[in-house]
Amino acid sequence: MTSRRIYLSSPHMGGTEQKFVQQAFDSNWIAPLGPNVIGFEEDLEEYLGEGIHVAALSSGTAAVHLALILLGVGHGDEVICQTMTFSASANPIVYQGATPIFVDSEPDTWNISPIHLETAILDRIKKGKKPKAIIAVHLYGMPCKVDEIVSIARNYEIPLIEDAAEALGSRYKGKNCGSFGDLAILSFNGNKIITTSGGGALVTKNSERKEQAVFLATQARDEAAHYQHSQIGYNYRLSNICAGIGRGQMEVLGERVTARRKMHQFYDDLFNGIPGITLFREPSSDYFSNHWLTCLLIDTNLAPFSPEVLRIHLENSNIESRPLWKPMHLQPVFNGCPYYGEQVAEDLFTKGLCLPSGSNLSIEDRARMTKIIHEIL
Ligand SMILES: *Cc1c(COP(=O)(O)O)cnc(C)c1O
Repeated sequence: MTSRRIYLSSPHMGGTEQKFVQQAFDSNWIAPLGPNVIGFEEDLEEYLGEGIHVAALSSGTAAVHLALILLGVGHGDEVICQTMTFSASANPIVYQGATPIFVDSEPDTWNISPIHLETAILDRIKKGKKPKAIIAVHLYGMPCKVDEIVSIARNYEIPLIEDAAEALGSRYKGKNCGSFGDLAILSFNGNKIITTSGGGALVTKNSERKEQAVFLATQARDEAAHYQHSQIGYNYRLSNICAGIGRGQMEVLGERVTARRKMHQFYDDLFNGIPGITLFREPSSDYFSNHWLTCLLIDTNLAPFSPEVLRIHLENSNIESRPLWKPMHLQPVFNGCPYYGEQVAEDLFTKGLCLPSGSNLSIEDRARMTKIIHEIL
């Protein structure tokens, strides 16, 4: 008999989600609007802090897309994007007919390198086009070098979109990820730290921008009894059923962050002292990661195994692990897009592995992983 599969990151319900979903059924709010949508937005606004407005959407990808539209990104424009990320950070640039300009990571946070970012901006300006936006990601929950990135964005007056899809609950210098950019996005996909099954949000400090986002997300209907449109709209609003799941999940977000950080500590103890293996960790006390996924770097010259050997060893015991995000500038679909940087993201991709990090992994699951990993050590 094969043992139950241990996943990288699986949904973890708190218990009150169904109460909110039941309320939606009882009141017949079975639609992409309703009290749970409003309630979920309020919960997120309260969590993220003063002056934050949140528009709940059908996905994080939809949020990136609307962020670009709100910033006026259109055909022929250029948008800078961190190369080391999930493709959903970059795809909406192409939806808008714009070109992604990819920028390398720096080794401390694995996120966008301030040095290469500035080089990219200067070179694009020299070539005749100032980038319309910068997309910076907090990868695996690790905050990017916020002060440096924000200051470059301000200096060149380029709006910053913060992709906090993986970083709800993370903080930089005590402030929540999602609160630094001109706009930020969140994701509540099934694998994220909290989930609505599928969903996302656009985050802004500007209440008019939120209104504009909701307008665009609900088919851009002008104020009139008949259906009147003077702009192209989208069907991007979050379902009231899914938002009910989100309200339940918000009650346990704090616990989920604690549990994910405990998983990180578990691996820290497990791999402690093994040559050639480095756990991805916060570079200083300025950074507080939700440790959405715990990742390793494996130096094959020193370590007893390569990332791929470890991955297959785990897979043979029905334990899921995964290479890091393959950088966008190496993806066939983005072939030919400009790239600024060196080999940092590429090296991380070659050496890295993401380990099962869910908040719902039991003591038995951890014992199983300890046994299987000790075998290969
Ligand atoms: C998950 C994710 C997204 C997209 O979110 P969806 O809700 O799946 O559309 C965007 N960026 C990053 C970095 C992500 O991990």
